[in-house]
Amino acid sequence: MYFCIYMGIKENLLVLNDELPKNVTLVAVSKTKPVNDLLEAYDAGHRIFGENKIQEMVLKFEALPKDIQWHMIGHVQTNKVKYMAPFVSTIHAVDSIKLIKEIQKQALKNKRIIKCLIQIRIAQEETKFGLPKEELNVFLNAASKFPNIKIIGLMGMASFTKDKDRIRDEFKDLSSLFKNHNDLEILSMGMSGDYLIAIEEGSNMIRIGSKVFGDRVS
Ligand SMILES: *Cc1c(COP(=O)(O)O)cnc(C)c1O
Repeated sequence: MYFCIYMGIKENLLVLNDELPKNVTLVAVSKTKPVNDLLEAYDAGHRIFGENKIQEMVLKFEALPKDIQWHMIGHVQTNKVKYMAPFVSTIHAVDSIKLIKEIQKQALKNKRIIKCLIQIRIAQEETKFGLPKEELNVFLNAASKFPNIKIIGLMGMASFTKDKDRIRDEFKDLSSLFKNHNDLEILSMGMSGDYLIAIEEGSNMIRIGSKVFGDRVS
């Protein structure tokens, strides 16, 4: 886990926002953190939060001001899409047509268009999640047929390793795929431990948890 000196949420956000290029959107990953921590970030002016569990995101949505943009960054179970469909702004880890179909169904029910990112498998380590990059074109073509879904970009996670060259190579891979698709706007890559590399390689949306809220216990 990434180690950082905990200064306070407001200060962490100030430092980060100061450091980030203007074109990079910061998703503050608030998973496992109490509502009061999110409120502190909100009071500091932050409006974009990321969660990885649907039930937890729903509870926080209900408790907090309604001008927050909620990003679902975790793996999504199809049967739970309905709980977040009324309010979720962007779903980051879409990697199956089965999931796309369910998001379409629930978005339509709520008369909404839900933004989605396609998760691409870039890590060399074994992982179940993410689409192999070779399948992206076919997937994009299929996904374009669903009117209540807007595919806005790609998302990826690098291997959990200290090897910075390997992380950079994996980000480079995703970035070149992204650059081949002019219609996609968002490249979501980079977490607390690797966001600087991600930005150097072209990321324009980073998902930062511990560097904003402090280390997680769980
Ligand atoms: C938890 C999580 C993050 C943030 O992790 P940190 O290392 O705390 O910044 C980013 N992306 C995903 C998908 C996550 O699950």
